[in-house]
Amino acid sequence: MKKILALLILALLFFTGCAIGKSITSAEKAGENKETLQQVQNTPNISNLQNRPDTLKVHFLDAGQGDSILIQFPNGRNMLVDAGKNNSAAGIIDYLKKNGINKLDYLVGTHPHEDHIGSLDAVIEHFQIGEVLLPRVTTNTRTFRDVLAAIKNKDLKITAAKAGVNILEDDNLSAKILAPNKSTYEDLNNYSAVIKIKYKEVAFLLTGDAEELSEKEILAGKADVRANVLKVGHHGSHSSTSPAFLKAVNPLYAVISAGAGNDYHHPHGETLKRLKQAVVKVLRTDEKGTIVFTTDGKEIALTTEK
Ligand SMILES: [Zn+2]
Repeated sequence: MKKILALLILALLFFTGCAIGKSITSAEKAGENKETLQQVQNTPNISNLQNRPDTLKVHFLDAGQGDSILIQFPNGRNMLVDAGKNNSAAGIIDYLKKNGINKLDYLVGTHPHEDHIGSLDAVIEHFQIGEVLLPRVTTNTRTFRDVLAAIKNKDLKITAAKAGVNILEDDNLSAKILAPNKSTYEDLNNYSAVIKIKYKEVAFLLTGDAEELSEKEILAGKADVRANVLKVGHHGSHSSTSPAFLKAVNPLYAVISAGAGNDYHHPHGETLKRLKQAVVKVLRTDEKGTIVFTTDGKEIALTTEK
C-alpha cells in the first residue's frame, strides 16, 4: 500500500511539477477555458475519488506498441477496448485480474491489426465475456483467425461496431460509437471503432487508429466529439489528429499509447507539435506506463504506474 501511495505521489509530482494531488473541476470540461487548470491543481482529492464507488475509471494500459484500454463504469460494468499484441496477453490478463475483473461486459476490437486484437483471444479465454464488438471487416491473418476461433469456442455473437451504435446509455452515462461511418475503406485503420464515453460532465474519446479520413467523416456527421481526454489516433502518427479534429475535440489531456523506440517513430513530431500548440497535456504510455483516470463525472484524478 505504501509503495502504491509513493508511486502515486511520485507520478503526480512528476506530472504537475508542484502539486501533491491532481484534480480538474467541471469548469475545465471540454470547450471551456483551460487556464482555470492552474487554479485547481492543488486539490489533493485523489484518495477521496478513488474510494468512491460511483466513479468511472479509464485505464490506458502500457501495452508497448499497441492499444488496450480498460473502462470500469460506475454501474459496475466493465469494457475492454483492444488487447494489445499477441505477446501482451499475460500482462493484460494480470492487470485485469489485479483490478478485480471477472467479466468484461463489452469487448471491443477497434480494427483487426495485430497491435489491437493480438491478445483478444487470450482475454476471451480467461474472462466471462458479454458483448463482442468488431467492425465489419475481415483480414487473412493468423491473429484474426485466432480471435474468431476464440469467439466461436465460447458461442459468442459479434455486434458490428459502426457509427450510431450505442453500447451503453442511461441518464448520466453513455458509450457511443462515432465511427466507422462507411462500410469500405482502403486502409484498415479507418475501420477503427471510435468510441465516446461520457459520465455526467466528463468525456473520453477513444479513436483506435482512425486516420484523417475517418476524422473528417465524423466531423461531417456533426457528432459531438468534445472530450476532456483524447486517446490520440494511431499511436500519435501524423496521419491522425488533424487540426480540425483536434480543435473540435478540444481535449485537456491527450493519451498516446506507443512503445519506447518503436519502428514507426510514433508519436510523430508533427502530432506532438499540434498538441502543444493546442495547449493539450500529453501523457505517453512509453514514458509514464499505465495511465489511469478516475472521475465522478465532475472532477478527474490521474495516476500513473510503471
Ligand atoms: Zn495500432
